[in-house]
Amino acid sequence: MNPNSQSSLITVDPFHPEPAAIQRAVECLIRGGLVAFPTETVYGLGAHAFDPSAVRRVFEVKGRPPADPLIVHLASIADTQTVAAHIPPAAEALGLRFWPGPLTLLLPRRSSLPPEVSAGLDTVAVRVPSHPVAQALLQAAGLPVAAPSANLFGHASPTLARHVIDDLGGRVDLILDAGPTEWGVESTILDPLQSPPVLLRPGGISIAELESVLGPIRIAAPAERISASPGRQPRHYAPNARLILCPGETPADIAESVRSTARRERKENRRIGLLAASEVASRIEPSETPVILRDLGSIGDLRGISRRLFACLRELEAEGVDIILAHRLPGEGVGAAVNDRLTRAAAEEDGSV
Ligand code: AMP
Ligand code: MG
Repeated sequence: MNPNSQSSLITVDPFHPEPAAIQRAVECLIRGGLVAFPTETVYGLGAHAFDPSAVRRVFEVKGRPPADPLIVHLASIADTQTVAAHIPPAAEALGLRFWPGPLTLLLPRRSSLPPEVSAGLDTVAVRVPSHPVAQALLQAAGLPVAAPSANLFGHASPTLARHVIDDLGGRVDLILDAGPTEWGVESTILDPLQSPPVLLRPGGISIAELESVLGPIRIAAPAERISASPGRQPRHYAPNARLILCPGETPADIAESVRSTARRERKENRRIGLLAASEVASRIEPSETPVILRDLGSIGDLRGISRRLFACLRELEAEGVDIILAHRLPGEGVGAAVNDRLTRAAAEEDGSV
């Protein structure tokens, strides 16, 4: 069977989406269909949040455990009342400052929201995306859209419509293709209901930006993140190949550990991929250290690195490498989110790295 036989793919202008395309997507959602659409973070797999059977299909299609709650996407902060019992002052201050944008907030769940959406928890995760296509869709639909990332569970999140087709083609009713997404990593998730507020997942909105509004926040420990945020198993975003993080403080140190790790792995006749910043990649001599390289761009451009990260991981996977060598980046700004995804992709099944 052609894996794309049942999904309609519609190309839309990323800045001024065609109303007819948005209308088709709205009709699909209202009928209980699944629509993959771009957000400024990654592509989402959307369902009408008040349609329990559509929501259950999201879990089935992704192979996502039902205990892993979804994020509800809204057109504006005013719409939080449709899914949340109320919005506490700290959450409102954050919403006013960072929405629309890549920040997800936990709020007390409104009892009328189908429990499947938030996996039976008494909180609901909500976000107002800024991507013009997501905004147009949410405004025209006038309903909350439950949408996890549009990838198979545990796989790298999709930053291109092509990735959605590769993972879910044929099992999604409609895919809106607006080209590459802007951030490339998923939203920051914050629990503002605790004191101090707790960061459950780093993302596009940095810890420093959150603290500028809230004062000090607490970063959840890995074990706590898993219990508070059930979907956050240690191993996630995992490429089919084993990912190894090469240590080092400077690009020269990291390049040295890439060379020695590659030497060791080559003795085992393994095909090796390298996912590295330009400052590291340029220090690797291909004749001496043969690797399949994906250059993420300069360390000085962490936004560019986060934008390319998942696409490069998927490309190395498609090259059929056995091992992917990578390295951590400076932890400021979106660097914390990139390091989080790399660490999780490198985690062994038991959660150790
Ligand atoms: P995804 O949409 O695929 O990026 O995954 C959404 C993430 O949000 C998952 O890791 C969930 O565990 C987390 N999440 C969603 N709702 C809640 C909630 N009510 N409490 C804690 N974490 C949540
Ligand atoms: Mg996801």
